[in-house]
Amino acid sequence: MKLISIVVPCYNEQEVLPLFYEEIQKIMQQMKDEHPELAFELVFIDDGSRDKTLTLLREMALKDERVRYISFSRNFGKEAGMFAGLENSRGDYVVVMDADLQHPPAFLPKMYNFVKDGEYDCATTRRVSRKGESKVRSAFARLFYKIMNQISQTEIVDGAQDFRFMTRQMVNAILDMKEYNRFSKGIFSWVGFKTRYIEYENVERPAGTSSWSFWGLFRYSLEGIMAFSTAPLMIGVILGIIACIIGLILLIVWIVQAVDGDVMRWQTGLMCALFLIGGLQMFCTGVASQYLAKTYMESKHRPIYLMRENEEIYRARHQAEIQEN
Ligand code: UDP
Ligand code: MG
Repeated sequence: MKLISIVVPCYNEQEVLPLFYEEIQKIMQQMKDEHPELAFELVFIDDGSRDKTLTLLREMALKDERVRYISFSRNFGKEAGMFAGLENSRGDYVVVMDADLQHPPAFLPKMYNFVKDGEYDCATTRRVSRKGESKVRSAFARLFYKIMNQISQTEIVDGAQDFRFMTRQMVNAILDMKEYNRFSKGIFSWVGFKTRYIEYENVERPAGTSSWSFWGLFRYSLEGIMAFSTAPLMIGVILGIIACIIGLILLIVWIVQAVDGDVMRWQTGLMCALFLIGGLQMFCTGVASQYLAKTYMESKHRPIYLMRENEEIYRARHQAEIQEN
């Protein structure tokens, strides 16, 4: 028997969840027909949804043995959701995919074929188009990948997604990375292993809306840069050197002017230098403090997520209720 865990982070997905469940059931059946040795479990993460997501998950867990879920005490973000799913999955293979069908379940048999013989440790998709996405968003995404790959040692593939079919070995490697500021695109790449990319056209959501605002994505990309590169620290160093050179030039100008007996002009020069260096100092301290802030957060060793309820707790409660009545 080979168990495949399908990890699905869900945040306010009441509209697509039934569609997703229907689709994934078909695919699981299809895969089981082809490979009778396969068994499945679905690990849903309710990331503090405010809609009926949890209710739907409870219903599914009662009806379907394969359905498991973890419900967070509040919204911890998709990264925490994925981590919780990986940590609680029991499969020999683990799939991570979105609930919104933007990661088509139809790819799963193909992905399994790449991974099953041990040639690859991971199969994933890569969007070759960003059809259906706003122009501004696509442009910023491209810019992000460009900057990221310039300044970081870890390669982040443009269009790569959090839709992954992984071996247990790779999942354990990812779980060993316990950092609090998680940036999965970087983590998947950092752990290495042999990854097979399957290219496809972007698919739009059939229902519900994306929970990413532009500002949210912007913050997330800064997070990514900070988590996987210390290059921004270099900005301070380089600007510092430039400031010193300007300072030296001003010093020479001042000496020359003092010899000429021109008093006013060197005072202006001095003011200028004062502002320049003061500003730069502030900037550099700012950059450094950003990293300090990250270190501060990491050093707290906070849990990445907190569970409020899972399928076991709910099933037990449900049983107890039945017995009472
Ligand atoms: N998601 C989550 N927690 C969040 C935001 C999103 O678990 O705080 C889930 C969401 O339910 C979906 C996946 O992450 O399954 C991708 O989210 P979304 O479709 O909003 O992002 P996009 O596809 O626009 O990148
Ligand atoms: Mg989506």
